[in-house]
Amino acid sequence: MSTFSAPRGTFDMLPPYSETFNRIRIQFGLELRDAGYQYIETPAFEDTGLFVRGVGESTDVVSKEMYTFQDRSGRSLTLRPEGTAAVVRAVLQHNLQAQRHPVKLWYFGPYFRYEAVQAGRTRQFHQIGAEAIGSADPLVDVEMIALAVEGFQKLGVSDFRLLLNSLGCKECRPVYRAKLQEFLRGLDLDEETRRRVEINPLRVLDDKRPEVQAQLDDAPLITDNLCEACAEHHAFVTGMLDELKIAYEPAPKLVRGLDYYVRTIFEFVHDGLGAQSAIGGGGRYDGLAQDLGGPELPSVGWAVGIGRTMLAMEAEGLDIEMPADCDVYGVALGESARREIFKFVTALRLADIPADMAFDHKKLKGAMKAAAQSGARYAIVLGERDLAEGVAQLKDLATGEQTPVALDAVVDTLKEKLQ
Ligand code: AMP
Repeated sequence: MSTFSAPRGTFDMLPPYSETFNRIRIQFGLELRDAGYQYIETPAFEDTGLFVRGVGESTDVVSKEMYTFQDRSGRSLTLRPEGTAAVVRAVLQHNLQAQRHPVKLWYFGPYFRYEAVQAGRTRQFHQIGAEAIGSADPLVDVEMIALAVEGFQKLGVSDFRLLLNSLGCKECRPVYRAKLQEFLRGLDLDEETRRRVEINPLRVLDDKRPEVQAQLDDAPLITDNLCEACAEHHAFVTGMLDELKIAYEPAPKLVRGLDYYVRTIFEFVHDGLGAQSAIGGGGRYDGLAQDLGGPELPSVGWAVGIGRTMLAMEAEGLDIEMPADCDVYGVALGESARREIFKFVTALRLADIPADMAFDHKKLKGAMKAAAQSGARYAIVLGERDLAEGVAQLKDLATGEQTPVALDAVVDTLKEKLQ
């Protein structure tokens, strides 16, 4: 016990689950690299204005959930609540868009939102994200979706649904927005929701309360109100998903919590997770670079929540406990033997054979117990008498069978056995 525990809404990612956490990051990272996405890392905090301008003042994320603080010189800084605004900021700051189109990047890290804590919803959470910046090609929207699907599938996650919508663009959305507002103003809504109708009417469509949903059956839908260019874009995306046999559900009431989205938006939901069912989501944000003072750079991206992906794996009965990798465990009795064993362990590791040993002068019984716990297939047992005879005992931990092997043949023998 310590006097302190991790702050509310944060967590320690502990073994044996932490290996799975890492595996998810590596799995997505390798796959994105193979698709031309390069890794980017941005600071954990940014100027508050970046998120206010980028994510949008009227969003819950900005108005209620940011960890904003003043540093010692009085600057207003905010722990990043999401990844996209900072990645676009970095691209513009370093003029990466001058090198290639689209700039394809991926990232990983902790994000921070002061939210009501519940299962699957924490105040520090981890995301893997991908962004393709500088392309209006609807095929890039499809590439993004396909990569997220591939990532989940390769982890063994299959019971997820892809929800898909288009939010229109700066031409057709305002017209739709006004139409929706007119419809919503005629409904029986509480004061806060009525206020939302005026500020962010699309969010009302997303209201989970049954008394609100019951009134939305006849609401005008964005997908019936797209301009020709947006309708064409959307038809291309859905057509290509069909060709790839990637199943999706049209979700004309889907909106997302960040203001920058236009045209394609999507969310991956997992039905094994309860209320916080989104395991990832994203969309197109053609206007964001300009909002941040840059040139026009149509872009698309997504973020996948690692914690929720682990919950999804668990819900599907996948094994998320991953013990440390160990094939060979060294057990030494006596000081000279300890040194020899350590040399074996080092040589095995160099030969890519996972190896570990008992430290702290453990006695034989304790050391053999540690060997069993390690999950190793073989133990190298070395006593002073073995050493004098120039051999080590190689013990097969499954069968208990023990054979002496000449000291200079130990590493090669293990290499052969473990091939
Ligand atoms: P968003 O940026 O809100 O679209 O989030 C992208 C993904 O991050 C979501 O689909 C979740 O998987 C994950 N996520 C977002 N907020 C939280 C949170 N408070 N706790 C855990 N995961 C989260």
